[in-house]
Amino acid sequence: MKSFRRELFFNIPKRRAFINITPQVEECVRESGIREGLVLVNSMHITSSVFINDDESGLHHDYDVWLEKLAPHEPIRQYKHNDTGEDNADAHLKRQVMGREVVVAITNGKLDFGTWEQIFYGEFDGKRRKRVLVKIVGE
Ligand code: ZN
Repeated sequence: MKSFRRELFFNIPKRRAFINITPQVEECVRESGIREGLVLVNSMHITSSVFINDDESGLHHDYDVWLEKLAPHEPIRQYKHNDTGEDNADAHLKRQVMGREVVVAITNGKLDFGTWEQIFYGEFDGKRRKRVLVKIVGE
């Protein structure tokens, strides 16, 4: 069995954003040389997510509005977590809803997606350097 590990780095200038990271993951699969296996992609931070859905800007806007209704950033004093001096309680909650990681099958050297599936990095507490792990196993 072969394995491959790579960290992707992001430094989003805004507090929140969704980025399509499918091309970077495809590049990792190509470099790994693995034809049959699995790729795990996970955020290495508890205030950002990795998830799979449609690359459609209206949907991404809808996610942002929906997540802000579920866990509004302001007023920051509404959250116990922010008593620690942080202001990112909402980002922890948004990350929980949108998930930590995805696993995608690799078949014939390609990501074996369902219809319209793409991999996204969801940032909820940006303006700093963050990491995503890509781990590939197979042969
Ligand atoms: Zn925090």
